[in-house]
Amino acid sequence: MLQSLEIELTSNKKQQPAADQLGFGNHFTDHMFIMDYSTDNGWHKPRIQPYQPIVLDPAAKVFHYGQTIFEGLKAYKTDDGRVLLFRPHKNIQRMNRSNERLSVPELNVDVVIEALKQLISVDKDWIPTAPSTSLYIRPFIIATQPQLGVAPSTHYQFIIIMSPVGAYYTEGVNPVKIFVESEYVRSVKGGVGEAKTAGNYAAGLKAQEIAKEKGYSQVLWLDGVHRKYIEEVGSMNVFFKLKGVVHTPALNGSILDGVTRNSIIQLLKHWNIEVIERPITIEELYKASQNGELEEAFGTGTAAVISPIGELNWQDDVLIINDGKTGELSKKLYDTLTGIQMGKLEDPLGWMVEATPVNV
Ligand SMILES: *Cc1c(COP(=O)(O)O)cnc(C)c1O
Repeated sequence: MLQSLEIELTSNKKQQPAADQLGFGNHFTDHMFIMDYSTDNGWHKPRIQPYQPIVLDPAAKVFHYGQTIFEGLKAYKTDDGRVLLFRPHKNIQRMNRSNERLSVPELNVDVVIEALKQLISVDKDWIPTAPSTSLYIRPFIIATQPQLGVAPSTHYQFIIIMSPVGAYYTEGVNPVKIFVESEYVRSVKGGVGEAKTAGNYAAGLKAQEIAKEKGYSQVLWLDGVHRKYIEEVGSMNVFFKLKGVVHTPALNGSILDGVTRNSIIQLLKHWNIEVIERPITIEELYKASQNGELEEAFGTGTAAVISPIGELNWQDDVLIINDGKTGELSKKLYDTLTGIQMGKLEDPLGWMVEATPVNV
């Protein structure tokens, strides 16, 4: 399909921000990728065009019923000038699982990866090279049919935008303080918690706002039925090291199947460190903390990669983890994963994909 890719280059390149001014998701590259879907024609008209606003009918279904999916992944420029993507197929395959759940038409994974490589090649000068910076890639789908009936849309757009992002930690990896949310819930089994869809995030804003006011950077969600099983942290999966063994909540239908989570599990197994996926209660963590058995806790996600947790507040009981400092294993995982991603360390599990375009 990409043989028909149309490329329109901008005649008005933007000024690029300095590496220390990047932050996260504030600046966008010169171009974007779009393709359209209609029930009659399937996915068609793939194109790369100058980054610009999109025009939608106010009745477009995405505005009313939230039929939309997104993904997030990163590209890195190595010291020798190669461009690498971290496990991009995993993201597009997950996008298809989200699509399936939200009755959005399936994408051809190879076509999307090729489109992404083409877009990166057009905007390759936008990939920052300062330590720990990268190009964040945001593919998303919106339902565009202008019709107010509650039914899957007949028309969609698939869009990729890209944003150069700064180092998540400017002064080394620092632990965060997390508020365990006992009132609001993020999702329930049978809902859309395992899909990367907008409604999950809109539903979490209130709790996040309250936690911020109390001085916590994120919310740790408990399950929606019993309010006792650990789910995940904000937009990160979560891991706990208890007496030398690493534990993480099992994929249960209401949490996201993170690419970073999967990679951390594989890396730990590669190092012969035991890792167990199972239901974990907050009560159990509290007891482990009191007995001195809770050694480390960290979140995992594309944006921060590893985010050590230094403090958990559960109904005003405060659990301090590893004296509020970054644990040894958290640090080693962060250094290894970012080292592999930046092309500085060997890639023992074959994760990195060169972003050189080849026409399919
Ligand atoms: C994106 C996301 C994650 C992390 O997934 P990665 O693929 O590792 O970036 C975890 N939880 C939620 C709710 C997310 O949206």
